[in-house]
Amino acid sequence: MSRPSTVPAWVPDPRIVLAQLASGILRYAEETADRSAFRLPYPANLQIALDRLSLLAWHQETAAPASVVELLQWGGTPFADWPLRLLDADVDPEESLLAHGRPTAICEELGSLRGDVEGEMRENALIRAVMDRTQAAQAPASYVAFRRLLVEHPVLTALDLDVRLADPDLALVADQVRQAYPDAPPEAAADGVVRTCGGCGGLLLPLDDDRTWTCEDDSCPDPGRAGPTHPAAEGVRRLRRELRTFIAAPGRAELRIAQAIESVGVPVALWPDFDACDLSVFAERPWVADVKAWRNPTRLGRALRARMFTVPADAERAFIVIGQEQVRAQQRYIERLRRACPAVRPGQRVLAVSEKQFLEAVRGRVERES
Ligand SMILES: [Zn+2]
Repeated sequence: MSRPSTVPAWVPDPRIVLAQLASGILRYAEETADRSAFRLPYPANLQIALDRLSLLAWHQETAAPASVVELLQWGGTPFADWPLRLLDADVDPEESLLAHGRPTAICEELGSLRGDVEGEMRENALIRAVMDRTQAAQAPASYVAFRRLLVEHPVLTALDLDVRLADPDLALVADQVRQAYPDAPPEAAADGVVRTCGGCGGLLLPLDDDRTWTCEDDSCPDPGRAGPTHPAAEGVRRLRRELRTFIAAPGRAELRIAQAIESVGVPVALWPDFDACDLSVFAERPWVADVKAWRNPTRLGRALRARMFTVPADAERAFIVIGQEQVRAQQRYIERLRRACPAVRPGQRVLAVSEKQFLEAVRGRVERES
């Protein structure tokens, strides 16, 4: 959608302002992660976002945040409650940039990656290094082992990590694995232990009251279930934030789908040919799928319009598959996605479907062929 022609040129584009604000918040959260660095100046993007929001507010004749501190308070408020209207900004009214003082996945989608999440992820230095190393060694199994580790174990003790790196597939990328898992943040430890979530395997973190512990992964399939606790003294490591959002979250759906397909006796490959796609199903005339865990179908639609996944030539059918968590969290997700991106509507080379619809389609082909 283009901007109404009545908007003067000096009024900034809300979508760009939000991307700057989100990236400023991510930067700020990173710099203050160890809680000792609170005297640092605010990241430049926060100041720029403040200036631009002020222009927007002026144009809309409403109040702007008076300072960066107030701007960060806006970050913790749903967009619906902002005094500003954010037209065409690809956000939903109930979304916010911060929750309990930490950046949300929405903030990550909007900010760190300037809209082209998967593109930027491929350019991510760590992922690039793993790809280069495993390709040079012609070791696709190492690449798959790396992806699987990240998805299945967002949190590991230092000892667990050492044990896993003894596996020859992972040993090939040991340096990168260690970089993927920095130390867990200090606030995760209390009473000498670090708590984990039984739903996603991630950390439980304290809310502001320091008594309530919560899973901060908003696509967690079962955030209420407690997982194992680890003695803090053992040294607990946690997967880096952008890898949690863009590898682990969709990865949970990828593994779940692969398991369901294997259980009906159909061959399935995860991340084949060094990530040519997420899943390749059936040995002959394969069906390929790219699994997405984006929170917002409009934002995903925009990203797909900019960069559609490349369908391997031998694929009979190709799908964009949306994980159940996302489909459940958003009304009419698939419909909204297809509206935002005509290239994934029925009749096109790539079709957008839910996880459930994809599994039904696979079972349908099995029945037809048996
Ligand atoms: Zn969880």
